[in-house]
Amino acid sequence: MARVYNFSAGPAVIPESVLKEAAEEMLDYKGSGMSVMEMSHRSKWFDDIIKEAEKDLRELMNIPDNYKVLFLQGGASLQFAAIPMNLMKNKVADYIVTGQWAKKAFAEAKIYGQANKIATSEDKVFSYIPDCSDLPISEDADYVYICENNTIYGTKFHELPNTKGKPLVADVSSCFLSEPVDVEKYGVIYAGVQKNAGPAGLQIVIIREDLITDDVLPGTPTMMKYKTQADADSLYNTPPCYDIYICGKIFKWVKEMGGLEAMKAHNEKKANILYDYLDQSEMFSGTVVKKDRSLMNVPFVTGDADLDAKFVKEATAAGFVNLKGHRTVGGMRASLYNAMPIEGVEKLVEFMKKFEAENK
Ligand SMILES: *Cc1c(COP(=O)(O)O)cnc(C)c1O
Repeated sequence: MARVYNFSAGPAVIPESVLKEAAEEMLDYKGSGMSVMEMSHRSKWFDDIIKEAEKDLRELMNIPDNYKVLFLQGGASLQFAAIPMNLMKNKVADYIVTGQWAKKAFAEAKIYGQANKIATSEDKVFSYIPDCSDLPISEDADYVYICENNTIYGTKFHELPNTKGKPLVADVSSCFLSEPVDVEKYGVIYAGVQKNAGPAGLQIVIIREDLITDDVLPGTPTMMKYKTQADADSLYNTPPCYDIYICGKIFKWVKEMGGLEAMKAHNEKKANILYDYLDQSEMFSGTVVKKDRSLMNVPFVTGDADLDAKFVKEATAAGFVNLKGHRTVGGMRASLYNAMPIEGVEKLVEFMKKFEAENK
């Protein structure tokens, strides 16, 4: 068996120990004689799985009691609609557009009310985070929206925007569990788990209780009402059981790694290995303003599309896979999520040095 170093932006690398454990439990989960895939979501076994997953997540992120944790389906993309449907009481929301995912969320919100683009970095291909210390927040805005880590462009809000008292809603899909967060600074934090915490198909929505109400936009599907899901402890209908099970194992793995402080140190160490090399390389360079760099997604280019293609091809052959950049940025992108080991980045940089020397 040969495992590759997988730099995919998502679905992405999962800790090997988690995959092994799941494999061992595949045919007979804890003496049930069944796989977790085969059991009722109302069974005692699954009840333990989902409760334990929530407990571990609450512990990891230090989630206050007045926040609910929801395990939902539909992709992070369905939240682009669920958020305005549930939160737009005044039908007004302010969006900070720092990449494709924020742009999509903004376009979706416009279907439901007045969505205002109050800041953007589109003028420079989303290569920076705009100054958000004093934005023209609308007086009647129901919330202010950000995508905290821009998966495609490799930027991250290292400082949250000043929302002037309005609830902050953040898509943290690609930085979920990568560093400590102060949950109280947000109204809603949500993530598709397939970037940093599990298999595709599960969204985790962490939402302040006062934002969960029956006062939603007319026509909101029952299943998309946060109230429905919160009242039913995410078991209104069959949840993505197997995803929740794998996520639960990943939460335990993060705890074993030392929690979010330790995860941050681990991620900084990895990202710095690559950024330090990019900063001194004569062939490769990063595409993002230094102070806004993401620890998770690192886009880089040679400046020559043919050379980029040659690099991706040779890297793939050497076992460094999914390095091709997003089509809107070109070049390469290395995603360095929690489960990417340090040696994966060290070996990638060694490979890049060799490539640079051979292709001068
Ligand atoms: C991948 C991604 C999405 C989309 O996730 P889906 O689950 O495919 O809908 C949304 N936001 C961010 C930041 C992402 O990285």
